[in-house]
Amino acid sequence: ENFHDVDMGEIIMGNITLTRYTRPTPVQKYAIPIIKAKRDLMACAQTGSGKTAAFLLPVLSQIYTDGPGEALQATKASTQENGKYVRRKQFPISLVLAPTRELALQIYDEARKFSYRSRVRPCVVYGGADIGQQIRELERGCHLLVATPGRLVDMMERGKIGLDYCKYLVLDEADRMLDMGFEPQIRRIVEQDTMPPKGARQTMMFSATFPKEIQILARDFLEEYIFLAV
Ligand code: AMP
Repeated sequence: ENFHDVDMGEIIMGNITLTRYTRPTPVQKYAIPIIKAKRDLMACAQTGSGKTAAFLLPVLSQIYTDGPGEALQATKASTQENGKYVRRKQFPISLVLAPTRELALQIYDEARKFSYRSRVRPCVVYGGADIGQQIRELERGCHLLVATPGRLVDMMERGKIGLDYCKYLVLDEADRMLDMGFEPQIRRIVEQDTMPPKGARQTMMFSATFPKEIQILARDFLEEYIFLAV
């Protein structure tokens, strides 16, 4: 078994080789083909299972192969308008929500490794850190955004982020996000008018446990989803 069973494009495949991942973990083996087949997914997987690469690899490969369409255009970092350099609101093609700064940074680090030389630019925003610095990073361009829910709501209210072109939505450690009281922010993000509705976007939820509250979130956010437990 290796990563070459599913074609994720030359650049991503090369980056997998650079990370020295030789064998897919079980969650990678099962989730990658499901995500590449454009199905919504509810995956029960623990930390340490390799779940980060399980969603990042197919999502990055999809953003990459989708090419410079509408969304990549909208996400362009800046434009010249009347000879003035205009900073643009960013419209990420993929959003990954995570409960904590630590997890968000881990996902971002892995996204940077896998997107190396791909033109796909990941960014990360989280609470408790200088927002000005994060805004400056965003304005350099953002195709894949990793965010904690509270800070993302703040960025949306400041008009720095729009989710109009968000085709790939990931909720990582969804049970922890609910335990931490993020449900109102998550619903605000996912259920706003400008976010493509379920069916028009692809949604993937990861959770270590599958209690009633997560089942309700899955029912509300996912469209005819595949349930995977590893
Ligand atoms: P995660 O569950 O995504 O937090 O991953 C746990 C750890 O396993 C991280 O340090 C990853 O870099 C590593 N990892 C993920 N997938 C693989 C793989 N296929 N081969 C070797 N290491 C991996």
